[in-house]
Amino acid sequence: MWNWITTRFAELHAWTFETLVQPALYRFGFMNWDEQAFEATELFLIGLIEVLLLWAIFRPVEALAPVEKWDDRSEAHVDIYYALLSKLGLIPLFFFLLLTPAFDWLNGNLRMAGIIPPNLEDMVPALQSSAVLSAVTYLLILDFFDYWRHRFQHRFKTWWQLHALHHSQRQMTFWTDDREHLIDQAISAAWRAALGLLIGVPPVQFLTVTLISGAIESFSHANVRVKFGSVGKYILVSPHFHRVHHAMAFGYDGPAKGCNFAQVFAFWDVLFGTATFAEEFPATGIPDQQTGRDYGRGYWSQQWLGVRRLIGADGK
Ligand SMILES: [Zn+2]
Ligand SMILES: [Zn+2]
Repeated sequence: MWNWITTRFAELHAWTFETLVQPALYRFGFMNWDEQAFEATELFLIGLIEVLLLWAIFRPVEALAPVEKWDDRSEAHVDIYYALLSKLGLIPLFFFLLLTPAFDWLNGNLRMAGIIPPNLEDMVPALQSSAVLSAVTYLLILDFFDYWRHRFQHRFKTWWQLHALHHSQRQMTFWTDDREHLIDQAISAAWRAALGLLIGVPPVQFLTVTLISGAIESFSHANVRVKFGSVGKYILVSPHFHRVHHAMAFGYDGPAKGCNFAQVFAFWDVLFGTATFAEEFPATGIPDQQTGRDYGRGYWSQQWLGVRRLIGADGK
């Protein structure tokens, strides 16, 4: 079955590249980018299949057991743009092109100074023998660092001005996962690239982990009445667990300025004392939206208002 899927995918990849991408490259004089474009086409197709699968599975689930019902869904729609820009690779590609020279430079300088970044697979050879063990290990490590990145996004006031865009969605759906400020996405990309440099995540594992965590994180934003039970709730982040993180009424309280920060594994919050297992499925949003603070409706107005909050120019 898996072989059949990978063969069909390779055919689709080759067909798309030869019929659509390559002629365009030749036409506009970018023949030298042949190899990179071939890889980018693969990532785009994987992203496209991912988006179609998420939509085909999560949209019916949302219709079946919604937490909230909206007559007018227009506020939810902008998140589709965020998801497509991120998942189809446009934003990741942009930051990859932007960050690669910087990290190559950093890596080169470290090596020249005799500092060879450690490689997890060399330190723990067992990881090379099992693809599943290796994927789970990298997922755990990347998720641990994402937990702390997310805590800092709430803890530091300046960083919160950017992250607030993610929390300003009052019609939260599975598309909301990628609703982030561009500057925030740049920081996340740098954070993950730095981690890659630190432990040497192989590209295939990086892609696998991104796809798995992406699916779990999309589901955790879904407008569905789903909890993961008395044991499961301590292991994986459920739509209920993450909705509590977005709770308008109490989602930003306490010394950590929030709760339930984990992205994939809920036990990080249990371990670091930030888990809240409320009973209800609360309404989402930021309290100051109720007193009229505007976070924008369209993509660009949300981005622009984020910059204004960041430089303290929105007068709040
Ligand atoms: Zn948050
Ligand atoms: Zn969220």
